[in-house]
Amino acid sequence: MSNTLIHKANGAGHALPNLPDYDATRARFSWALERQALRGLPGGGLNIAMEAVDRHLQNGRGDQVALRCLSRGGAAREFTYAELAAETGRFANVLRTLGVQPGERVFSLLGRVPELYLTVLGTLKAGAVFCPLFSAFGPEPIRARLELGGGRVLVTTPTLYRRKVASLRAQLPQLEHVLLVGEDADGEDTRSFGALMAQADTGGRIAPTGGEDMALLHFTSGTTGRPKGAVHVHCAVLSHYVTGRLALDLHPGDVFWCTADPGWVTGTSYGILAPLVIGATLIVDAEEFDAERWYGILQDERVDVWYTAPTAIRMLMRLGDEVPGRFDLSRLRFMASVGEPLNSEAVIWSQRVLGRPFHDNWWQTETGGIMIANFAAMDIKPGSMGKPLPGIEAAIVSPAPDGTLAFVPDGEQGQLALKTGWPSMFRGYLGEDTRYRTCFVGDWYLSGDVARRDADGYYWFIGRADDVIKTSGHLIGPFEVEDVFMQHPAVAECGVIGKPDPVAGEIVKAFVALKPGFEADPALHDELMAHARKRLGAVVAPKELEFAAHLPKTRSGKIMRRLLKARELGLPEGDTSTLENT
Ligand code: ATP
Ligand code: MG
Repeated sequence: MSNTLIHKANGAGHALPNLPDYDATRARFSWALERQALRGLPGGGLNIAMEAVDRHLQNGRGDQVALRCLSRGGAAREFTYAELAAETGRFANVLRTLGVQPGERVFSLLGRVPELYLTVLGTLKAGAVFCPLFSAFGPEPIRARLELGGGRVLVTTPTLYRRKVASLRAQLPQLEHVLLVGEDADGEDTRSFGALMAQADTGGRIAPTGGEDMALLHFTSGTTGRPKGAVHVHCAVLSHYVTGRLALDLHPGDVFWCTADPGWVTGTSYGILAPLVIGATLIVDAEEFDAERWYGILQDERVDVWYTAPTAIRMLMRLGDEVPGRFDLSRLRFMASVGEPLNSEAVIWSQRVLGRPFHDNWWQTETGGIMIANFAAMDIKPGSMGKPLPGIEAAIVSPAPDGTLAFVPDGEQGQLALKTGWPSMFRGYLGEDTRYRTCFVGDWYLSGDVARRDADGYYWFIGRADDVIKTSGHLIGPFEVEDVFMQHPAVAECGVIGKPDPVAGEIVKAFVALKPGFEADPALHDELMAHARKRLGAVVAPKELEFAAHLPKTRSGKIMRRLLKARELGLPEGDTSTLENT
């Protein structure tokens, strides 16, 4: 790991950070106090859409742009908070007309089009449950999720419907309504989203949901195995509010851009809900990654806060240092990353080339919101995930055979655990009660990730419990090895696995993808092996290194080490429903 420290003596930028002093904010933090910022519903209820949208009409934000949707070539489409309130109310009325009852599931299979946002928030207003799917999914992952989730409504486009869903209809008796967005939307067993909206009115009350009523269903990324359906409830909105404010340093009126795919939990928690609850202006780009386009958006839309993922940052780094210099990024105040480990090299690169560091933060589909973060006013140790959010108690533990937990001393590795009780904690894995229960020991939720805490209270990611490598009596985290390769100028991406070995138990094997302009030849192979040995020592350094054009990734951009391993060993690949096409 790098020894660099990115010092934040004066905070990160132009606005005073929401969390100016970590220890002080943590000491006086109270969920009950934070809850007072929310409006709630008459009679003590709580509804995410009320907090994200309609609440702002009462606090003078009705005319502010809530959503600004960009697409290639097209004019931007904007919705003020008042317009968003009206249009999401309209969609809630559409669902009521269709007979959708509170608690029933509404799925989306959409890219980042305006109708996605109306669907999410309108569904919540109707008291129904929203579940997003990746629009790039093939028919089988779509079928499996709609079936498990009991989807009653699906909102998609005519093309996606024809290609992926039409042939499945007979197998999905619960799927009563398919609403198609866009022109050419009429069909025999589908309805036109636009026509239904035109017939519905905008008024109507928000369903009287309680904080513990189910609001969202999110499937995990499938990095370690078959995706699980995590159930979330309306009071998660308190976590969205607090984490958006403290971990992303979002202020009301900020221009915020989150690049996450809508099919992934980040696409909902931070691509939609948290920034709206805070009263930011959300930039939405319908297009996929394109480095120059992205720098252009940061400049032209005057983005204040930007939330993206390591895989995108690595692609920006791969493009080189010259391109960002052509853009005016001076407005950008805070940049954050999530989804998989952010290599220390990426943090140092961003500080050097973009003039400000990426702030890594850690959370999971199950946690519903950010749990561990690098905060705007806190020094960054590149390669570290940061410290637990105020209101969140984290620990490094080791489950003992008698069913209790031992707390592991600082500096040593163990499982990252969180004390239960934060608002956005998942309330179940749909249809998998036993699996849900085994995630908990007493008051603690076991994340399945291995990490360590240093003496200053910073958390360092080591790997998934499933991915940690045991070699000659040592436990090695793949991230530590990958991080060292990422420091070499030729390396664009790296994935490290343990390969069974009769003597050592496992040996470390690295798969490396190179940056443009580098040749995968024996000389570079030996140079990389020597680079790793010098920094990691003979025990931790890989014994084998293989060049790969691409590494297998999930649709949320995570390297799938289990697939590298299965392919290496000639084993079945297991669930590949979330595998990105490379
Ligand atoms: P599955 O549970 O289906 O295997 P997944 O765990 O990748 O998939 P998500 O809930 O999308 O599904 O991802 C959460 C996981 O991503 C975390 O448990 C952790 O392993 C990884 N992760 C997220 N953020 C970070 C981070 N900042 N540093 C390291 N790892 C991270
Ligand atoms: Mg997981």
